[in-house]
Amino acid sequence: MAELEALEFGKSDFVLLDEVNMEQFMENLKLRFEMGRIYTFIGEVVVSVNPYREMDIYGKEAISAYRGRELYENPPHLYAVADAAYKAMKRRAKDTCIVISGESGAGKTEASKYIMQYIAAITNPSQREEVESVKNVLLKSNCVLEAFGNAKTNRNDNSSRFGKYMDINFSFSGDPTGGHINNYLLEKVRTFCFTTGNRSVKTVRTALKVIGFSEDEIESIYRVLATILLLGNIQFGTEEEIVQVEGDGEVVSHIAELTSTQPQQVEKALLFRTVATGGGDVIEKGHSEQEACFGREAFSKALYERLFGWIVGRINSVIEVKDYNPMLHGKNTVIGVLDIYGFEIFDNNSFEQFCINYCNEKLQQLFIELILRQEQEEYEREGVAWQHIEYFNNQIIVDLVEQNHKGILSMLDEACLSGGRVTDTVCLDSMSSRLAQHPHYTDRKVGAPADKTMEFQKHFRIRHYAGDVTYSVEGFLDKNKDLLFQDFKRLMFNSTNPVLKDMWPDGGLSITEVTKRPQTAASLFKNSIVALVDKLSCKEPYYVRCVKPNEMKSPVLFDAARCQHQVAYLGLLENVRVRRAGFAYRQGYSRFLLRYKMTCEYTWPNHLMATDREAVEAIVTQHGFQDDVAYGHTKLFVRSPRSLFSLEQERAALI
Ligand code: ADP
Ligand code: MG
Repeated sequence: MAELEALEFGKSDFVLLDEVNMEQFMENLKLRFEMGRIYTFIGEVVVSVNPYREMDIYGKEAISAYRGRELYENPPHLYAVADAAYKAMKRRAKDTCIVISGESGAGKTEASKYIMQYIAAITNPSQREEVESVKNVLLKSNCVLEAFGNAKTNRNDNSSRFGKYMDINFSFSGDPTGGHINNYLLEKVRTFCFTTGNRSVKTVRTALKVIGFSEDEIESIYRVLATILLLGNIQFGTEEEIVQVEGDGEVVSHIAELTSTQPQQVEKALLFRTVATGGGDVIEKGHSEQEACFGREAFSKALYERLFGWIVGRINSVIEVKDYNPMLHGKNTVIGVLDIYGFEIFDNNSFEQFCINYCNEKLQQLFIELILRQEQEEYEREGVAWQHIEYFNNQIIVDLVEQNHKGILSMLDEACLSGGRVTDTVCLDSMSSRLAQHPHYTDRKVGAPADKTMEFQKHFRIRHYAGDVTYSVEGFLDKNKDLLFQDFKRLMFNSTNPVLKDMWPDGGLSITEVTKRPQTAASLFKNSIVALVDKLSCKEPYYVRCVKPNEMKSPVLFDAARCQHQVAYLGLLENVRVRRAGFAYRQGYSRFLLRYKMTCEYTWPNHLMATDREAVEAIVTQHGFQDDVAYGHTKLFVRSPRSLFSLEQERAALI
């Protein structure tokens, strides 16, 4: 709390910079980080720099300092945004969402935890037991998902889970009644090692119980984890041209026991696959040693993903709002919290970056739509003259990726469904010829060095809204295909353990059905992102942008180049420009008057003006910022927060 009350350093809102340019932005960001001011506003957006040390700014005192206050009344903080979202939800019955983005390690998950904790702290003042238990389960489920999400990638910072969205439902009185979680996963390298995962899994056993998982379910979770570990011990060998599982069959029996299946069936799934021939026949085909290894790895990866998905589904069934009667309980409002990777650009960008960046294009599209369009519409509605600001509409890039038949995702799907002979490079060639004229797509040949290397030829470049990214097409098709043989799905579907069976509903499909309608990673991914954007688009958005100050997890190092890179890709300068072009603050006349009437002789102690609007004009003029405002039909619009700071100070001195 001491840190919270201490002096501000630099500009607490980037809107107040003397000039909007990268140099000034970075200078301010660095100064504030070094002085322990890890949060800075851009209007209502909070920019956060990971402190990599414990900060004394999240305690009870801080919570009460932010509770119910306006954004500009306190130093920048996550709590200010959380409170703004909560107020909008409670006072105006608006569904809101808080979008937290940044790269891996930038502090997104910590931020989402503080936001959840804040909301938990300010709700249910009467400590009603049923509300407390909902809150408890919501907080616990966050912890379970983090533990499982990270278990998979303890050894790998480049996590396969790049996003999590949680809706928290509220009753009419503003107390949490339940929630819903969505997770966004990507296909990931098949090398993952699980050994470090177990420890964190054990620590969540209690959390699982609190949430309401049964003993059988918890037991099944451990069985699946043990199966994944055992699969790593399976070796294949070839004897007289027949591929076999090496050893005395003990591991296979153990796996069968853990998964409640038959050892012969396990062995068969490991060594054979069922194939539908062109003529409509179904045959069994023995694996080569390489195919068997490949199948085993795809299986253990899928086991983990199914388990994770099942846990999420199970948590959702516990936290879903039940018995809600709108007639009785009033409108059920929602705050969504999205914790998601921002734009990614590495030295080598692959399918994962392509998906994440596509997702960010969609979110940018939403940002444009929600913020800019709503702003413009409000100014029009209020009859306030507003200089139209030019912004880049990135719809063209969204289309480049997702348009049916013509977009990159469709082309990938086509290539994957065309019988297996198409390689990454062939697919790239076809894409490049079909998109040759597209202004945001660059063919690998354009600008190619004279001595074209093989690596160079496997790239394509997209001009994203945040900058150019070159993708290596290598592995795109494999990552897009569902590489898990149906035989494994069937094996699990036939498990006599109902929990396991439940994880593999598609295992009941016949091989001919599967061959006809395979689901690709790209189409699943696109559907989930479209659904996410639909969910967000009906909500009032708040933003937290997280920056990772260095690669060393150091609390004192501000790596300027790394930070600038992130500032650029998070579009923060653009954000400041949009804010400055518009009005930083707006308030209905009567509410403004209620708050500031005591600062003006014409409005205090008596309201001497004919209308609220005239009274507000009197206040503004008396304080000398009449050039910084516009008067709408029902609201006052103030350009810079500076004017409000002076008003707030005067008010504070009087009360
Ligand atoms: P992300 O979710 O963006 O990958 P995390 O939220 O997991 O990143 O943060 C990574 C690490 O950085 C945390 O484990 C913690 O050590 C540190 N960290 C992040 N935010 C804070 C904060 N507000 N205060 C203290 N440490 C933080
Ligand atoms: Mg995280």
